[in-house]
Amino acid sequence: MIDKNELLAGLSETSAESEYFSPIPKGYVKGKTKYVVVMGTVMSGLGKGIFSSCLAKLMQDKGLKVAPIKLEGYLNIDSGTLNPFRHGEVFVLDDGMECDMDLGTYERMLDQNLSKNNFSTSGQIYRSILDKERHGDYLGRDVQMIPHVTGEVKYRLRTLAHNTGADIVFVEIGGTVGDLENAFYIEAMRELAYEEGPNSCCFVALTYILEPRILGEQKSKAAQLGIKQLMQSGIQPDIIACRAASQVNEKARQKISVYSNVPIGRVVSLADSASIYQIPAMLRECSMDFEVLRLLHIEDRIDLRKERQEWAKWCDFTDKIGKEKHETTIGITGKYTSVRDSYASIINALEHSGIALGSHIKIEWIDTSEITDKNVAEHLKNVDGIIVPGGFGIRGTEGKISCIKYARMNNIPFLGLCFGFQMAVIEFARNVCGLKKANSTEIEPNCSEAVIDILPEQKKIEKLGGNMRLGGHDIDIKPGSLAYKLFGNTDSIRMRFRHRYEVDPRFIEQIEKGGLIFSGKAPNQPIMQILELKDHPYFIATQAHPCLTSRPLRPQPMFTGLVAASMKK
Ligand code: GLN
Repeated sequence: MIDKNELLAGLSETSAESEYFSPIPKGYVKGKTKYVVVMGTVMSGLGKGIFSSCLAKLMQDKGLKVAPIKLEGYLNIDSGTLNPFRHGEVFVLDDGMECDMDLGTYERMLDQNLSKNNFSTSGQIYRSILDKERHGDYLGRDVQMIPHVTGEVKYRLRTLAHNTGADIVFVEIGGTVGDLENAFYIEAMRELAYEEGPNSCCFVALTYILEPRILGEQKSKAAQLGIKQLMQSGIQPDIIACRAASQVNEKARQKISVYSNVPIGRVVSLADSASIYQIPAMLRECSMDFEVLRLLHIEDRIDLRKERQEWAKWCDFTDKIGKEKHETTIGITGKYTSVRDSYASIINALEHSGIALGSHIKIEWIDTSEITDKNVAEHLKNVDGIIVPGGFGIRGTEGKISCIKYARMNNIPFLGLCFGFQMAVIEFARNVCGLKKANSTEIEPNCSEAVIDILPEQKKIEKLGGNMRLGGHDIDIKPGSLAYKLFGNTDSIRMRFRHRYEVDPRFIEQIEKGGLIFSGKAPNQPIMQILELKDHPYFIATQAHPCLTSRPLRPQPMFTGLVAASMKK
C-alpha cells in the first residue's frame, strides 16, 4: 500500500498537474538495487520461473542478495481459488500466502523462504488502487493506467528492494508479452528502467524455437515476431534465452541476434533438460551470470570464494542426478493425475530424497475412482510405497481409503498428506476402532461418526478465498516417536498448512486406544498434526504439506523416511 504522505510527495515533486507519478518508498536509494526482468514471448509455460530462479541462484552463490517477485496478470487476489488442474499446484508460503507454483521453484532453488511481498497479481494492484481512490488519496485527479497503475507496480518492486536490501530483484512477469492483462506490467518495467537510469535493469526475453517435423529444421520466425512485439513496447532486450527441444543452432541464433540488436553471445540456447537442477550449470556454461553482472555494473560486489564453496556443494548434489543405482516406485493416488504440475512439490520432494539416498524415483499415478477393497491389491502390485496426497471433495475417496487399508495391513510404506492424513484417520476409525460409519463432513455432511470435521474457526466463514488454516505453524513432537526420530530428535518443528477440516477432538482418545499414535500436535490447541503406527515398516501421515519445504540440499525427513522404507521393500 502506498503511504499517503509518499503519495503526496510523489505529486508535489512536480505539482499535481505533472504527468509524473512515481511514488518512491522512504529511504529508497536509486541505483543500489538492480533489476532483472524476465518476460516470455511466443507462448507461456516456457519456464520463466525456472530460468529466473536459476539465474538468481547463480547470483546468490556469488554472495549477492536476491529477491524474486512474480507478477501475475490475472485478477484473482491470490492463487487459492485456482484449480490446480488448470494452473498447477497452489503453493503456500510460510506467511499463509497462496501463490503460484513458481514461488516453490524460487524457494527450492534459493533455499530461501519467501513472503506475500514476493507475489503480486493484477487483482491485488487494482484492489489497492481502488481502495485509495475511495479514500480520496488521488487529490482530484482521474486515476489512470499510466501513471497510477504502473506507479503502483514500481512502488511494489522498490518496496521489495528497499525492505530486503537486495542487490538484485528478479521480476518475473506471468503470461506472454502481448497479453492484454500484462500490458501494464510491461509498461511499468519500461518506466522503471527509464527512471532508475542506465545499467539498472536487465531485460531477459524467453522465447521458443520451433522445429516442425515436416521441415526438420529450426525456425526462428515466431521468436522474432515475439521479440518484435516486446521492442514495440519500448523495451530492448539485453538477453534472449531460446528454449527448444534440442540445442538451438548458430543460424537461428544469428537471425534472432540481427533482428533484435542483441549480440549473439547473449542469444543463448536453452534446450530441454532432464532435471531443472542442471539448468544453473547450463547458464554458467554460456556465462550468463557474468553477462548480467557486466550489464548491471556490479562485478565489484561479488565474492568469488563464496561462489566456489557454494558451487561445490551444489555440484555434489547435481552430480548424483541420473547416476542412481537403485529404482523405487512410489504410487501417488490423486485426482489430478493427468497433470504433473498439480503435484509439483511432491514430485520435487521425492526427487530430493531419492537423490540423497541414491535411488531413482519412478512415480506411478493411481486413479482411485475405480479402486475397492477387492481390487486394490492389483492396483498396488507394482509399488514399493504409496503417498495419498492433499485434495478436496468426494471423488475417489473410498478408493484412497482402500489403498491406505491395504498399505496398513500389508506393510507397504505409506505417507499421507493433509487429505491423506484425514483419510488415514477415517480408515483406522472404521476398520480398527469399530466406528463403522466414520467419515469426514466434507464428504458426508450429515455423517453420524464424523471423525473429521470442520475446524471451529472455519465454521463462521462463508467466503471461499484466503481463509483456510494457512501457512506455517509450529508442531509439538512426541519424544520417542517415529516423527521425533525422523526430525532428528527435536520436539518442535514447523510445517505449512492449508486445510479447513481436522480430527474432531472428541474422537482422539478412542482412536488412540485403538493404537494410532498422534505424534504431532499443535501447541496449546487440540489440532492433530501427525499420526503414525507402531509395528509397521513406515506408516505416517500429517495434516501439513511437508512437500512445500523440501529443498534440494535439505530433503524433507518425512519423504526421506518414505523413500528409505520403500527401498527396503
Ligand atoms: N479438504 C481437506 C481440508 O480442507 C484437505 C485439504 C488439503 O488436502 N489441502 O481440510
